[in-house]
Amino acid sequence: MVQRPMNDEITAKVLDFVRAAGAVAAGVCTPETLRGGPPSTDLSYVVPGARSAVTFALPLKQDHIEPYLGKRDHQSHNRDNRDTTNLASGIAFQLAKYLDQLGWPSRAVAANNVYRPEAPGGLHDELPDISHRYLAVRSGVGWFGLSGNVIRPDTGAALVLASVVTEAELAPTPPLAPEENYCDQCGMCLAACFSGFMHESQRTSVTMGGREFSYSQRRGHVRCDYVCGGFAGLHPGGQWSTWSPSRYPIPDSEVGFQQALRLAAKAYYRRPAPAGGFYSPLLKHGKLEFTCGHCMLICHQDKQVRAKRLKILTTSGVVIEGPEGARQAVSPEKALEHLSALPSQLRTMYLPD
Ligand code: SF4
Ligand code: SF4
Repeated sequence: MVQRPMNDEITAKVLDFVRAAGAVAAGVCTPETLRGGPPSTDLSYVVPGARSAVTFALPLKQDHIEPYLGKRDHQSHNRDNRDTTNLASGIAFQLAKYLDQLGWPSRAVAANNVYRPEAPGGLHDELPDISHRYLAVRSGVGWFGLSGNVIRPDTGAALVLASVVTEAELAPTPPLAPEENYCDQCGMCLAACFSGFMHESQRTSVTMGGREFSYSQRRGHVRCDYVCGGFAGLHPGGQWSTWSPSRYPIPDSEVGFQQALRLAAKAYYRRPAPAGGFYSPLLKHGKLEFTCGHCMLICHQDKQVRAKRLKILTTSGVVIEGPEGARQAVSPEKALEHLSALPSQLRTMYLPD
């Protein structure tokens, strides 16, 4: 019979488990500290007898961010983001197995790409089994930035979260002090996003276990899917783009985004498959890749770095794609010349008819 360590002892072990594996921060929530939270904070959805959950953050490599935003190097950040996501899910899996073997039924919640199939709109509602973000802010892993991303003093928003839900009764950890949150509402995350996913003036409030948290209200996920998924990539002003070579327009309304996504997806499937990339249950055919993520990558803890990154992003031109899928940033004028010179069969891979 395995002897169960005491509550504080196993809590310390669990936190050290993920820190030793590379986490920059970890925290614990319980059903009590999450009481009153949104549906995606219901731990019993994942483990019926859940008594706690541990959430942790892995850092993304800062060195890859500016070359990515400046459209000089797409793949280094892409690989880092994908691999860090997989690593976080793997650490969560190992921790769940560790706790299971000590006698506490536990389940890992993957870092990303896991959604509740029974939601009214199925997987496309993108309702996660558990929202790592909520658990992270409630347990002191980070604060909410205006963007709604989780931010930390040592990583900015450039981090990946994962969680383990368990029957072990771990001791909860407190939120970070709100007065130390570096988010000064600078608005650069919104300036770096042209999908309109984050509302410019309205805020969302969430109360969990008697503590209130707020961030910019989110419009439909379809907006971020359309731009961050690479189905469209040109800023409406035409002067800069994401890493997507698509020139499908940015609609005004939610319905417009749904329609645009259906059309742009057909063109997406005709383009060369992403190098590397990753599979998502939201995409029936083919693979996804990171083409945006600007709201997260802009948000460095130092405001001067944020401003520098925003400038790099918005002055680095427009991405075009060659016949083998090779991408490069060129001036907006050159990008138009390039598209105009393509035979119409190829041009419709990037522009609507
Ligand atoms: S970019 Fe500025 S406003 Fe947005 S979350 Fe970061 S600090 Fe806050
Ligand atoms: S990932 Fe891109 S499209 Fe999505 S919210 Fe952030 S900046 Fe906007």
